[in-house]
Amino acid sequence: MQDRLEKIVSLCKRRGFIFPSSEIYGGLAAVYDYGPLGVELKRNVQQRWWQAMVYEHDNIVGLDAAILMHPTVWKASGHVDAFNDPLIDDRQSKRRYRADQLIEDYIEKLRAKGETERAEALHRRLIEALNAADMPKALYQIILDERIPSPDSGAFDWTEVRQFNLMFVTHVGPVVSEETKVYLRPETAQGIFVNFHNVKDAARLQIPFGIAQIGKAFRNEIVARQFIFRMREFEQMEMQYFVKPGTQMEAFEAWKEKRLQWHIENGIRPEHLRFHVHEKLAHYADAAVDIQYLFPMGWQEVEGIHSRTDYDLRRHQEFSGKRMEYFDPQTQEHYIPYVVETSVGLDRTILMLLCEAYDEEEVEGETRVVLRLHPRLAPITVAVLPLVRKDGMPERAQAILRDLQPFVHTFYDEKGAIGRRYRRMDEVGTPFCVTIDSQTLEDGTVTVRDRDTMLQERIAEAQLLNYLQDRLRHWKLVRAL
Ligand code: ATP
Repeated sequence: MQDRLEKIVSLCKRRGFIFPSSEIYGGLAAVYDYGPLGVELKRNVQQRWWQAMVYEHDNIVGLDAAILMHPTVWKASGHVDAFNDPLIDDRQSKRRYRADQLIEDYIEKLRAKGETERAEALHRRLIEALNAADMPKALYQIILDERIPSPDSGAFDWTEVRQFNLMFVTHVGPVVSEETKVYLRPETAQGIFVNFHNVKDAARLQIPFGIAQIGKAFRNEIVARQFIFRMREFEQMEMQYFVKPGTQMEAFEAWKEKRLQWHIENGIRPEHLRFHVHEKLAHYADAAVDIQYLFPMGWQEVEGIHSRTDYDLRRHQEFSGKRMEYFDPQTQEHYIPYVVETSVGLDRTILMLLCEAYDEEEVEGETRVVLRLHPRLAPITVAVLPLVRKDGMPERAQAILRDLQPFVHTFYDEKGAIGRRYRRMDEVGTPFCVTIDSQTLEDGTVTVRDRDTMLQERIAEAQLLNYLQDRLRHWKLVRAL
């Protein structure tokens, strides 16, 4: 399965989806750049999220807050004190691990070996440790008691478990001092909370309403791994939904379902998605669930849905001295709203989409690699291909290309054998290839080749755009057997 991930990483590099950052200098760990096709995929995912969250809800509006914020924001939010990972070092290999993940992986191994009872008992102990007042110590004790060895070196030579803050620090202005210290935001949510009144008043919103935002977040992750799954610079798509206290569970349940549905509509098979209830609630939450996807490396979180209570607004009220209350015109009450958050990683969604879409099949004795991406997410929607580079076919193809360009993302290719050109398009997930051949010159029809079935249909040139738009609207994946 890991092999599948390697193939995806290599395809991403080769075809211009994702490159390691600063590659000519050896790269920068857990930082990546999106290439020409990657950036299209990313924009399409953003667009579909924005469409579903903002345009299809008349009580949700957008925001684009700055990455740098007043440092007190992160004191109020709890990130300065509590945004920590428990870490442990293997003295022999000098490798560093997250203590809770080390124990989780160990539990998985016990389960795989059929030692279910022991695994369950340890699992219960892990949950207790995660909620303990001295969490690092409790985790360390488990590692000692179970004699959990280092996964890489096999040694049992651990340091103690220590906490490490994940925020990146920089300074504003020319002086580097405690007073000029600011953070790169570790989540986009706080930009929404501090703008609560600005947005509500400007957009004349009444509760319940939501504020949505897409933007960069930064975390100095210790164990950065698995390609774009865990990055140090990444992008989040977050929505904070403000509700009347007491109605948060209703909103929480509704958003859980809506967000799961969004992933399914993007072409993720329902059996590859599941809800995972949090074992340890964050200090601010009264309910939390993850949407997990079955990645090649196992079930992992893609999105979090959190009922954050009034924690954030209340803390900002305390730290800023500004009232964060809402006045309800119907009931004439003042209250601090409760918040339900949906927070999905854009990059992690992209990795999920690539893992879901990647397929290999035997066609005429050769392996065909195909990305079965939803056509609205695919980086290129239509490739326009003259069968040969003569007899006026390229000119005719160019004319068709110009007609399509204002409506769909197109790509033009006239080089090489047609079969090879189709394969190149399959590999990057292009759902439709339009081919201009000698019959086009006679009767004005073109062929449209379908990526998934490889079947071709003849369509009149004048009908082409309508035909494509119709197919985009009613897409359903036909998988190869
Ligand atoms: P994890 O447990 O994987 O560290 P988290 O629970 O800390 O994630 P949240 O703070 O809930 O994550 O962030 C919401 C979403 O942002 C996650 O579901 C994930 O998709 C994304 N995300 C978080 N950290 C990273 C990262 N380092 N790289 C890429 N995406 C991330």
